[in-house]
Amino acid sequence: MSDIRINITNKTYVLAHDTQQIHHAIAGLDITVHPHQFVCLLGPSGCGKTTLLNMIAGLDSHFDGQISMGAIEQTPSIGYVFQNPRLLPWRTVRENIELVFRSTPPASLIDNLLDSMQLRDAQHQYPERLSLGMQRRVAIIRAFAINPNILLMDEPFVSLDAPTARQVRSQLYALWLKRPHTVLFVTHDLREAIALADRLIFLSGSPMRILSDITVPIAREQRQNEANIEAFREQLLQNHPVIRELI
Ligand code: ADP
Ligand code: MG
Repeated sequence: MSDIRINITNKTYVLAHDTQQIHHAIAGLDITVHPHQFVCLLGPSGCGKTTLLNMIAGLDSHFDGQISMGAIEQTPSIGYVFQNPRLLPWRTVRENIELVFRSTPPASLIDNLLDSMQLRDAQHQYPERLSLGMQRRVAIIRAFAINPNILLMDEPFVSLDAPTARQVRSQLYALWLKRPHTVLFVTHDLREAIALADRLIFLSGSPMRILSDITVPIAREQRQNEANIEAFREQLLQNHPVIRELI
């Protein structure tokens, strides 16, 4: 697995073809992500975070620049947890997970994945019967299921109440510790970012650029202690006042 090299020189959206009105979403962005790094992207709403993840996922190729992930023959697999869970409503929880596999996966593999997010009891339910928190857990499992090299997560816990978000976050973290994929994780929650990430990248409003790129200096085993998270958060806000305006 190689570094992910992201170099976007220009990403525009045409807002109106008749008037040639253009929105400059990204103009000059250079990020190198190392294998197994957990990177959190933080920035104001509308700054281009989802746009960036879509470009990395290969869903949007209308940009100038390059995103490279190593040699073509080793093209990495990518798991993507979208901002909305995007489950198929006519498939059960179990079927929603199974459908990401090319051939029928062993039942024990699906069972283990369901257990990792405490969803075994809900496996035969249809998405409309699930709470948002459960739907998000299914979406996370689905992204992990193929054991991707790279995991993209776009505000996966947004609009969950605080206790549910904390619970799903710790389940995600436990899953990641077992299989430390390279992760690009978008969030607005600085405490969440500090609890999870090796590295925080703060982004400005459009056109998007990097304002700060900061390594989280807290050892993983120290992060259970919320006081350590809080102390580093305070330090960050003091040393980088601009962060207050971003999140
Ligand atoms: P974020 O995820 O950081 O909230 P987005 O990547 O969704 O931001 O959007 C970045 C900017 O690009 C926003 O100003 C948004 O309105 C604009 N944008 C996103 N998608 C489109 C689109 N398909 N057409 C036109 N403008 C878009
Ligand atoms: Mg977004």
